[in-house]
Amino acid sequence: MNEIGHFIDGARVAGTSGRQADVFNPATGQVSARLSLASEAELQTAVDAAKAAQPKWAATNPQRRARVFIRYVELLNAHMDELAELLSAEHGKTVEDSKGDIIRGLEVCEFVIGIPHLIKGEFTEGAGPGIDMYSMRQPVGIGAGITPFNFPAMIPMWMFAPAIACGNAFILKPSERDPSVPMRLAELMMEAGLPKGILQVVNGDASAVEAILKHPDIGAVSFVGSTPIAAHVYAEATRHGKRAHTFGGAKNHMIIMPDADLDQAANALIGAGYGSAGERCMAISVAVPVGEKTADALVEKLIPKIEALKIGPYTDSAADYGPVVTKASQQKILGLIDKGVEEGAKLVVDGRGFKMQGYEDGFFVGSCLFDHVTPDMDIYKQEIFGPVLSVVRAKTYEDALDLPTRHEYGNGVAIFTRDGDAARDFAARVPVGMIGINVPIPTPLAYHSFGGWKRSSFGDLNQHGPDSIKFWTRTKTVTSRWPSGIKEGAEFSMPVMR
Ligand code: NAD
Repeated sequence: MNEIGHFIDGARVAGTSGRQADVFNPATGQVSARLSLASEAELQTAVDAAKAAQPKWAATNPQRRARVFIRYVELLNAHMDELAELLSAEHGKTVEDSKGDIIRGLEVCEFVIGIPHLIKGEFTEGAGPGIDMYSMRQPVGIGAGITPFNFPAMIPMWMFAPAIACGNAFILKPSERDPSVPMRLAELMMEAGLPKGILQVVNGDASAVEAILKHPDIGAVSFVGSTPIAAHVYAEATRHGKRAHTFGGAKNHMIIMPDADLDQAANALIGAGYGSAGERCMAISVAVPVGEKTADALVEKLIPKIEALKIGPYTDSAADYGPVVTKASQQKILGLIDKGVEEGAKLVVDGRGFKMQGYEDGFFVGSCLFDHVTPDMDIYKQEIFGPVLSVVRAKTYEDALDLPTRHEYGNGVAIFTRDGDAARDFAARVPVGMIGINVPIPTPLAYHSFGGWKRSSFGDLNQHGPDSIKFWTRTKTVTSRWPSGIKEGAEFSMPVMR
């Protein structure tokens, strides 16, 4: 049995807590590894190593820090096939989709190669008589990241690339469902020339998270996962005086206007709704056609496309999507589908009986399409996080806009239309963080920032892009005057520029 420990002070180490969790291959349903769950003492060894290494790393000039990422990007590309295979084997997504997961993280590493420029401060010469003023951005010190199962390469890199480029040491607590890729990512950082202690992986569950949240030497916490945990982590981290930003769940709507190209919209919905088995925080889970005619035509186009989706293990290169991550997820999704039927939604494509031949113990879920879903139903309110799309029919554009406006989540949203005015009005008015106009999954690229609104995100600075440089640094502002500029005597009133 493959035993996975932690990555501390530059090397893989065995766990010592005596607590372990099973890691599964979701396609076969078999246990593929035993993962050690860290104790507080094990976290402390990582913090000690980080404390010892961080000052020297912060003092390393930013061009040298950038060069580690230049080598790292080369290594990620060289190891792409190996990493994708490892990722798919624990997550279940197709190998091509795993490559997308890795590449989206790699792009953040490319972005931080610009760190010498990104981290530059501001300078004002002659802010007063003989006075110069400048600001610099200094690392927070030790940062921690707690990541979800669904993007085990991309989301760790969203966090550790900017944190480390800014001069911090970083402790990653990845999802216990698919820890092998995060471990390899840390190992490859060492190969790229990162000093030991700067990137460490502490595997674990809620108790490792609690230890991070109260640790006095960890200055900043970044979290991505489900909303209840995101809210808890934000509250606890800030209560302990830490800087925090935490990102939660989603229910992403796609509005289809009567003038939209319906073939384009249907294809977009299939990819965005069922890709990665619907286990993406930017997946479209609600389609909102405007007007009965649009709705009937859209559903008619969707049904055969959904019925034709090919489900398979990651080893099948022709599969559109694979199993969901755990048996518990599979059961939860199937339970919610039953609930939707009970609540009166029309299940026009019913994938509940799906069995994957040869993989009967795998965590597969057949594709489902609900029509006539209403906002009071659980399947509308909750994030299903599976291959299930709900159609909520809207009478007018205003009714359609009202749905994502009122929903508790506000991660992503899309509108499909040929009308520039409608699209512009929608983007301006909808209270959601990421908007797609004829783009179903509007995930910002690495040099922009990623984040939702409402209960999809807590805190104010987003992931990657310019926000990440602010999140992982503190601003220090220096006002300097040399003796020649100093006037005689003491000043007792508030100094102002006259
Ligand atoms: P999760 O909340 O179960 O787990 C996320 C992390 O929190 C894991 O590292 C886990 O070990 C830890 N954790 C779990 N329970 C905890 C507890 N009680 N106390 C402290 N820590 C705990 O999420 P998941 O199932 O791994 O991921 C899926 C969720 O993540 C979905 O809701 C999805 O929408 C969301 N997500 C959001 C974004 C975003 O950017 N907004 C991106 C990806 C995923």
